[in-house]
Amino acid sequence: MFDNLTQKLTQTFKNLRGQGRLSEDNIRDALRDVRLALLEADVALPVVKDFINNVRESAMGEAVVKSLTPGQVFVKIVHDELVQLMGAHNDSLDLSARPPAVILLAGLQGSGKTTTSAKLALWLKDKEKKRVLMVSTDVYRPAAMEQLVHLGKDIEVDVFPSSPGQQPVRIAQDAVEAAQRGVYDVLIVDTAGRLHVDGEMMAEAQALTAAVKPVELLFVVDAMTGQDAVNTAKAFNDALPLTGVILTKADGDARGGAALSVRAITGKPIKFIGIGEKIRKGLEPFYPERMASRILG
Ligand code: GDP
Repeated sequence: MFDNLTQKLTQTFKNLRGQGRLSEDNIRDALRDVRLALLEADVALPVVKDFINNVRESAMGEAVVKSLTPGQVFVKIVHDELVQLMGAHNDSLDLSARPPAVILLAGLQGSGKTTTSAKLALWLKDKEKKRVLMVSTDVYRPAAMEQLVHLGKDIEVDVFPSSPGQQPVRIAQDAVEAAQRGVYDVLIVDTAGRLHVDGEMMAEAQALTAAVKPVELLFVVDAMTGQDAVNTAKAFNDALPLTGVILTKADGDARGGAALSVRAITGKPIKFIGIGEKIRKGLEPFYPERMASRILG
């Protein structure tokens, strides 16, 4: 992730350091390079514009220009702005609700919802010592339901049984009751997706949200789809009270545009990133500070 961006920014900073002092001219050149690097990384245009304006404002400050190490100060400004863009700190899950805390995962088909449900369940079980129940409400794809059952067995997390003949809302409500009876701490609801944003899918996600009142409503999105990921995030965020985003397939995303744009466009934090197909080791909490340092190499 971010390989190209890191390469481009490293070159920009090298050029700047070679100049000794900062001037309006070389700041302008550096900003142009940063702008191009962000656009090539597939960062959304309005996000790039704001980013460059903020960096320009800070970099033009007298203290920067007069500093003994203006190049380094410029790098620090870009670093801080990247951290700001991605959300400053890690927003972890809010599971403070009366058990079961319901986590609902929404997103397009193929984005990685089912895989992520299992990854998240395992993370909650191992790291947070939670008793987790999972359920699939994807009545349109029996294979998806079977996949969740199979993954549950593999990671030793219980799965509430569901079948294609049932109503999604009913399944979810029954699962909440079962979770209450079984004294589970967390219920993860894996919902149906479609290939594209569509009204029916949104209506179903809204009905599920109203029925089970999730404490976390997470939008799962494939990082490799770049600007499409951001547009889809916006559509879901407009229709649903999302609490955060899980960015999957970050391991296959060399550009990083979605990671850098999603928060600015939706106002919702990225809470986790998917970094591989494996259920074990395939999910990490998202730390903006670490990401920014990684980007700057
Ligand atoms: P769903 O339709 O949204 O439930 O998507 P699935 O969970 O079935 O995932 C679709 C495909 O994406 C599967 O082949 C997963 O193994 C793969 N996948 C999910 N998350 C990741 C990830 O973080 N990295 C990689 N490389 N593949 C992933």
